[in-house]
Amino acid sequence: MPKRFALVAVSLTAVLGLLNEPLPVGAEPPAADARARSGARIRADVEFLADDLLEGREAGTRGYEVAARYVATRLAIMSVPPAADDGSYFQKVPFRKSSIVSSSVRVGPTGGALEPLVVPDGALVAPNSRQPEATVSAPVVFVGYGITAPEVGYDDYAGLDAKGKIVLACFNAPDKLPGETRAYYSSPDHKLRNAADHGAVGVLYMFLPEDQKRIPWDRLKGYFGQPTVTTLLPDGTPVMVEQRLTLVGYVSDASARKLFAGAPVTIEAASDATAKGEARGVALATTASLSVTSKYEETASENVVGRLEGTDPTLKSTSVVLTAHLDHIGVKPQGEGDRINNGAYDNAAGSAVLLEVARSFVASGAHPRRSVVIVFMTGEEKGLQGSNFFAHYPVKAAGKIVANVNLDMPLFLTASSDIIAWGSENSSLDDTVKGAIKAEGYALSPDPIPEENIFVRSDQYSFVKQGIPSVYLEPGFTAADPKVNGRELLEKFRTGNYHQPSDDLSLPMDQVAAARFAEANYLVARAIADDPVAPTWKPGNFFGRVFGKK
Ligand SMILES: [Zn+2]
Repeated sequence: MPKRFALVAVSLTAVLGLLNEPLPVGAEPPAADARARSGARIRADVEFLADDLLEGREAGTRGYEVAARYVATRLAIMSVPPAADDGSYFQKVPFRKSSIVSSSVRVGPTGGALEPLVVPDGALVAPNSRQPEATVSAPVVFVGYGITAPEVGYDDYAGLDAKGKIVLACFNAPDKLPGETRAYYSSPDHKLRNAADHGAVGVLYMFLPEDQKRIPWDRLKGYFGQPTVTTLLPDGTPVMVEQRLTLVGYVSDASARKLFAGAPVTIEAASDATAKGEARGVALATTASLSVTSKYEETASENVVGRLEGTDPTLKSTSVVLTAHLDHIGVKPQGEGDRINNGAYDNAAGSAVLLEVARSFVASGAHPRRSVVIVFMTGEEKGLQGSNFFAHYPVKAAGKIVANVNLDMPLFLTASSDIIAWGSENSSLDDTVKGAIKAEGYALSPDPIPEENIFVRSDQYSFVKQGIPSVYLEPGFTAADPKVNGRELLEKFRTGNYHQPSDDLSLPMDQVAAARFAEANYLVARAIADDPVAPTWKPGNFFGRVFGKK
């Protein structure tokens, strides 16, 4: 037995021993004591899942497999039965990993000589998951944000001819698009589809000055240079956002300037107008040529699925799906020092809270009226892959899914006095969440960072796209201790630790805050699962209209 495996086995046994205390049905210890114990369990799960031995839990790696076995074992110990179609806890999710063998980006005046941009310092192209050899060469059209939003009379493509062209589109979306609408329109789902609908053959993303500040190119090139992962349908076809586009790439600020050479407007004027939400696209005087050779590796990972059967004879064939992604981003390929991205908060913490929520259902001694399906998702970090697969092919035991409650990166750096329920305002879940968290003394806060488009960036969005009202709960930015600036702490995490090896066990974690947040999650899930009326989109709601069942 290799040494590393022995160590995992030893620590797994130790942790499970700790956690295998009898569930306190009926005779709960005093509240403060119960909360401390709950916090200690959450901490113990985080310590296991964020251990260096799990090597960052990247989907498709051994570290992820160990994490998956661990949460499945925890469910089994809690008497949460398995719910995959084969009777196990593991729903198999097939993937294709596409990596770049070689790539090039060249730009120059249309009809003239093209000069190469340096990859990755000046430009990057994503691998193509269907064509191992992909090339596209076409004149470039600047399309602002690349958004067409008829309900607010906004169209970046108005008066432009993008047919057969490569479009240059800015990341993000104009401020004037309201809340969640903005989240949808800023996503590749909309932008790539919209480009293809307008006949484009390729897309290059550029970044406005504001976005360059938030997400510097040096960081972006690390993300975008990585292999891409696509889920494979049961018939073996990769699920791509948009198959009509040949290639999608990204350019640095310096390269975007080269694309604007000889244009009728300066890049500054075009960027300014775009940032102000004044759609003003323009055909550029340049041509771009992108070329990528990709290689494929077929792998599989799994979602871990358990189910608590509902008590109502009719409602038990419906379910509330509770989710947290178990995967993270693995080991950094280069660099000095610690290279393991432990993902203690992203999302060992969310997974640990989900385990605690499952435990609360069991400890309550009475299942709710609807069934509750608990899913630890794989491949979230690779583009919501596990949840996308699950939402398309739910396990049979899920029956009709009425809602999704997701957990991703709950931060317990300090105790919060509020909760954010991303996306709740779109559906009747808003009232449900408000009512349920009040019992724990939490206030519900509005989205404090609309520019981050959080609602379309985690697993709940896969359910939204299937028309299912969903919500993503996170501790709010208001610290319970008035001397602590909660927002500053959280911003510091986002810029300093998020997707870095320093998102690890050395970060502070308020265990009581974690326990209280888990309890609030349980109350929310319980309220939805006990309500005989299924959640609905608000009348005229954007997501309800775009994705809801007719
Ligand atoms: Zn996450």
